[in-house]
Amino acid sequence: MAACCSWNDVLQYETNKVIRIQSGTYGTIKWVLHLIIFSYVSFALVSDKLYQRKEPVISSVHTKVKGIAEVTENVMEGGVMKSVRRIFDPADYTFPMQQGNSFFVMTNFLKSENQEQKLCPEFPTRSALCHSDKSCKKGWMDPQSKGIRTGKCIQYDETRRTCEVSAWCPAEEGKVAPRPALLRSAENFTVLIKNNIDFPGHNYTTRNILPDLNTSCTFHKTRSPQCPIFRLGDIFQEAGENFSEVAVQGGIMGIEIYWDCNLDSWSHRCYPRYSFRRLDDKYTNESLIPGYNFRYAKYYKENKVEKRTLIKAFGIRFDILVFGTGGKFDIIQLVVYIGSTLSYFGLATVFIDLLINTYSGAFCRSRVYPYCKCCEPCAINEHYYRKKCESIMEPKPTLKYVSFVDEPCIRMVEQQLLGKSLQVVKGQEVPRPQMDFTELSRLSLSLHDSPPVSGQPEEIQLLCKEVPPRSGHSPGWCQCGKCLPSQLPENRRALEELCCRRKPGRCITTSELFWKLVLSRQALQLLLLYQEPLLVLEEEATNRRLRHRAYRCYATWRFGSQDMADFAILPSCCRWRIRKEFPKTEGQYTGFQYPY
Ligand code: GDP
Ligand code: ZN
Ligand code: ZN
Repeated sequence: MAACCSWNDVLQYETNKVIRIQSGTYGTIKWVLHLIIFSYVSFALVSDKLYQRKEPVISSVHTKVKGIAEVTENVMEGGVMKSVRRIFDPADYTFPMQQGNSFFVMTNFLKSENQEQKLCPEFPTRSALCHSDKSCKKGWMDPQSKGIRTGKCIQYDETRRTCEVSAWCPAEEGKVAPRPALLRSAENFTVLIKNNIDFPGHNYTTRNILPDLNTSCTFHKTRSPQCPIFRLGDIFQEAGENFSEVAVQGGIMGIEIYWDCNLDSWSHRCYPRYSFRRLDDKYTNESLIPGYNFRYAKYYKENKVEKRTLIKAFGIRFDILVFGTGGKFDIIQLVVYIGSTLSYFGLATVFIDLLINTYSGAFCRSRVYPYCKCCEPCAINEHYYRKKCESIMEPKPTLKYVSFVDEPCIRMVEQQLLGKSLQVVKGQEVPRPQMDFTELSRLSLSLHDSPPVSGQPEEIQLLCKEVPPRSGHSPGWCQCGKCLPSQLPENRRALEELCCRRKPGRCITTSELFWKLVLSRQALQLLLLYQEPLLVLEEEATNRRLRHRAYRCYATWRFGSQDMADFAILPSCCRWRIRKEFPKTEGQYTGFQYPY
């Protein structure tokens, strides 16, 4: 980038120059792609409300469980097992949870009644069984056991002996949860969920219980989807679970409240959507510690002795998960969205360019598809491709172009040190650029001149026609018989060892056009004056300028493009023919020089 040194450098604007292709096919492809992209962008804008600023919900939850259950318990009374019927109300089966947004409903339990602090045998698990006092280490505390060992081994029942422990006695029996669950009728309990939400950024507050709500309803997915009172059995049914099965071991159930709020005044909508999902291990058989349970105790005093009833409660913990977003129209969001979609409209250009590049003849001829016949679209695409694409070689000092009059293409030679003479280096073939005749038309005046020697215009022959050359003095690599040995030092000599022909034949310097385009003094003077109208043409300096101009004329004539002409090497015959016409009086000729 040029350094910024004046206001003119600042007050400028650069834009891209484009090529417009008048083509029905590509025009149609472009409009179809634009239409698809526009439809998609508009659809996404409206359906996902991408013009809104969205904000996550903040919420508070409060729950109330209701329902009565009748439970038949087996109780030991005076050594006899009796069935007792008990009524459970919410205070018996629900517990406040430490964690917010949750509530627990007990569905099953195991009771150990009349426990007091004393010494008693442990419940016979594998590690508690013993034969003698030796197996019971005093003071040992097994994490699985319920107390601290005294060091004695005593009778548990008629057949088994276990270690004695100091604990809440009698020790809790390791029974499994009763099946069916004792409070299986908890299925019919209902829970009222109060959920207040807030979108602070939008300054909007609402709740799930609206004033016009019928409070005697029960939630149903389709019939009353807005009712905040849920039957526990229905929650399980919605989640595809069996309540009485889960009730035995307990479990964790998620109640999801999703708020997708549209806070725009013209389409205001802000209601919760409820869904249910089991959150714990579904497959109780496979899990190591199935279900959900915990222990709690009720303490009391009997005859001044502290006693307790230990309850292992199995039940269902309901976790209420509130999430969602509130969106409101925001001009910045809309502008950002439009900005981000603009790049998609470039897709048509990328796609059509891909078609042009892929199906152009140049690509077909490449090694990727060697068998592809050049079809009609290929030819058209190649035309577009040539108009669109201008390739530039890196102007390396090693880069050189040579052209032989008996070959249609130009050869690009890239060689660090020309060990071999340029004549025999193979190089890479590059197509000859399309001719620019402006230079030629400027020269039209010179066409009235006639060549000074051997110039019979009627003798113009086609150069491809073989004419035996050889003047006898030409070097070995010369094919036209007009070349001369190079004057350059040894190490650069190979650079000038180049003939105008690949195979033996007539020299290009004998063509009339060579004389008219390259050697005509009148034309060259005209070109020099064209550039510098007030140029004074003196003898010695003029010769130098005319000679250099003649080199250029030859290069432009035979290589066409300016880029190539800069790196074009003149054949020895042409170089010496020009030098003969416009000679240097003293010193050596410099020869080709790297232009940059
Ligand atoms: P000078 O006039 O004594 O310097 O020697 P020359 O007659 O060899 O001219 C040298 C100038 O012509 C330099 O600018 C060279 O780059 C240019 N020149 C000489 N030979 C070639 C050539 O083969 N190709 C091109 N493109 N330029 C050449
Ligand atoms: Zn030659
Ligand atoms: Zn020649």
